[in-house]
Amino acid sequence: MTASQPSLKSAHSIQKDDMHRGEPGFFHKLVRMKKLEGVFLFITSRCNSKCRTCFYHDKLNSNDDMTFDEIRRISESSPNFDKLWLSGGEPFLRKELVEIIKLFYDNNGVRVINLPTNGLLGETIVSRVSRLLDHCPDLFVHLNFSLDGLGKTHDKVRGIPGNFTKTITTMMSIKNKFKNNPRLLQNVATVITPDGYDELFDVGAYLLKKDLVAAHFYEIVRGNPRDPQTKTLTPGQIKALRVKVQPLIEKQADNLFKEFSGLKKKIAKLFFMGFIKFVNEIQDANYSGPSDWGMNCTAGKTTFVIDHNGDFRSCEMRPPIGNLRDYGFNLSKALYSDAMKREIHEIGGGAGANCWCTHGCWVMSSIKFSPRAILLRIPAAYRRSRKYCDPHFELPDIDIAQIERYRK
Ligand code: SF4
Ligand code: SF4
Repeated sequence: MTASQPSLKSAHSIQKDDMHRGEPGFFHKLVRMKKLEGVFLFITSRCNSKCRTCFYHDKLNSNDDMTFDEIRRISESSPNFDKLWLSGGEPFLRKELVEIIKLFYDNNGVRVINLPTNGLLGETIVSRVSRLLDHCPDLFVHLNFSLDGLGKTHDKVRGIPGNFTKTITTMMSIKNKFKNNPRLLQNVATVITPDGYDELFDVGAYLLKKDLVAAHFYEIVRGNPRDPQTKTLTPGQIKALRVKVQPLIEKQADNLFKEFSGLKKKIAKLFFMGFIKFVNEIQDANYSGPSDWGMNCTAGKTTFVIDHNGDFRSCEMRPPIGNLRDYGFNLSKALYSDAMKREIHEIGGGAGANCWCTHGCWVMSSIKFSPRAILLRIPAAYRRSRKYCDPHFELPDIDIAQIERYRK
């Protein structure tokens, strides 16, 4: 079996039944136990980029990555969980990338992985994705490329000349090689900065016109970036962009669920668009300062972050609370440690919670443990999103030739 020929079981399940692309759905277990759901692993500190938006910039290229054997011990001591979120550094610079993911696939029941990349490594990315799909035949891979503007704007935000060209070329190669594989979803994450601001609608339209993207997320700059200037847009500008790109999100929903029909299509679209609107509203409310999400952040109870050097945290925004070396690389010991209990107490919950931020991954993860968000707030957010949708919307005529000329 080649990577572009998924197993019949996987192909059947995603085309006929699965609107969540490998993740347990919202209704899978409406009242979930607050137990480990996602592990965020900084698989390497090595990076070939110099993004001005990077919140991990002071830890990059520090030459103290955990060894493969240490990560194996982490996997062997961890309870099962749903989703592995890789981070870094550039994950594709880790030579044992496929073998490390396979550890969690074999030992922890992981069937969906979030795999971000700056797209610079071309052939390496294509060949490792191919091996990953072959070695883990029931794994769903959400491959998330970063694109923060068009052409030279993207290069300026990322600090690498030619970055835009290389990333688009890699995305085209992935699309061509895996376009019939329902286990691979090619997504894009765009960080909203003053440099890219005026181009970000066109980035989304370009990706849709070229059929290069499944889901496109527009993200607020996280934490303390390398260049604080990247975080100077006003809340009003962020809101205006959300309104402008809303029709693009509806196009993504139409593409994603084109195999569905009837009520199922309506429900899938409602949850996709309502989910994004709900997450964006929480992010935007927290842009200028902490603001109650209206649901608990479940960091530390349901998520566990492991830095490249074994430091561990409840989420990416809070400081490390220990190092796995001191726990013999036993994840369960660290997860249920007094240090983590104190951390969860510090974050708080309900009306007593004292920690809120813009981090979309934790908003998304926490929603799964909030029946109120699933049953009431996402449908309500969908209804609000309809205000900005135009049933007659067509993708605009953007100058693709000019973008492509830059590419060459
Ligand atoms: S944001 Fe990612 S790709 Fe960019 S410098 Fe940081 S780790 Fe590297
Ligand atoms: S609100 Fe943000 S910073 Fe606070 S615990 Fe949750 S993810 Fe971390």
